[in-house]
Amino acid sequence: MSDYNTVANGWRKLGTTLSHSGRPAADEDGTYINLPVTRGSTVVFPSVESMNRKGLERYQHASIYGAMGSPVQHELEKVIATMEGGTDCQIVSSGLAACTLPLMAFLSAGDHCLLSDNIYGPTRRFAQSVLKRFGVDISYFPPMADKETLETYIKPNTRVIFAESPGSHTFEVQDIPMLASAAHAHGARLFMDNTWGFGIFAPFEHGVDVSIQALTKYPAGHSDVIAGAVTVANQNDWHILRDTAIQTGQVAGPEECWLTLRGLRTMGVRLAQQASTALDIAKWLAQRPEVERVLHPALPSCPGHDVWKRDFTGAGCLFGVVLRPSYTGQDMERFINALRLFGIGASWGGYESLVLPTSGGITREHDGPLAQSPAFRLQIGLEVAQDLQDDLQQALTHLSQA
Ligand SMILES: *Cc1c(COP(=O)(O)O)cnc(C)c1O
Repeated sequence: MSDYNTVANGWRKLGTTLSHSGRPAADEDGTYINLPVTRGSTVVFPSVESMNRKGLERYQHASIYGAMGSPVQHELEKVIATMEGGTDCQIVSSGLAACTLPLMAFLSAGDHCLLSDNIYGPTRRFAQSVLKRFGVDISYFPPMADKETLETYIKPNTRVIFAESPGSHTFEVQDIPMLASAAHAHGARLFMDNTWGFGIFAPFEHGVDVSIQALTKYPAGHSDVIAGAVTVANQNDWHILRDTAIQTGQVAGPEECWLTLRGLRTMGVRLAQQASTALDIAKWLAQRPEVERVLHPALPSCPGHDVWKRDFTGAGCLFGVVLRPSYTGQDMERFINALRLFGIGASWGGYESLVLPTSGGITREHDGPLAQSPAFRLQIGLEVAQDLQDDLQQALTHLSQA
């Protein structure tokens, strides 16, 4: 079983990078540590020549026009690209936009897109509606497929394989290097929604071509921002992605970018704390008689735990809990309603703890760990572990009340 250093140290090691990356160098006139929020649409130039020259720098994170990004957006892009280990990053309006933009950038009518069956629900709905309507063939592979099984889902026209590891409801940890080698052998790109693994999974070192982040989660960290990021690792892919971002009008507001940068600077220490509390709570829940299974990647009961041990340098603060099959969905609702320190709601990655029922509402083609029993998801915040445990303990007594 993993110890706390395993889940927390990976986050602690990010502190120096998070404190220094992207910041302007101090100059003789004195330099504010943080960029100001530049609100604006029009950027003016002293001559037509200089305007035209600047217009050519659209791949270099230049300030050209408000819809092409502000200085604070470009600083955020540099920090995210560094954190992900890629060359360039495009900040977009939401985490969902970070999923949909590269699908639009790298797929055409007649192509096949193969998605992991545990993909973020709204990404799946985008694939089922917009992508299908635009003539892209869609199918889903079992997230825990081995190479042989995966090969049976790949078609001659497969151009994108889209993974999410671990899935944000089922926590299946996928073998990303295997998916990458299969994708590349067939001339396809591997996309990964790396929101859970931000900072503790190096996507490009494991063969990913396009890494996706909902900055809304850990980086912003205070439940006050909606933003996303797409990172790539070569200039060819960057030009395709950047062109599509400009053509679709993708941008994030300067205020959102500023708040995300502010959140990022403290992310390492927040997540080190939240990750170790989360492991405490997960281990405690795993011992409870009401609980069938805890889906936390750092515990052996999680599908893909061995892959997590091999590929990740830490664990996040979001995990799943499956109750014993003797309980009903209504029993679980009574338990959830009785919690006092856990807000009931979507999203995660903030400083506060949250709970969300996860059984029932999920579309899947292949069996997963939530198939039979009532299940819920916990996001662990910065509260004291013992307080959260006490709250869960009192709420669990409501499970079996008539
Ligand atoms: C939340 C989330 C998203 C979407 O982010 P938003 O900013 O809420 O649109 C995408 N992928 C995963 C895994 C998420 O958890």
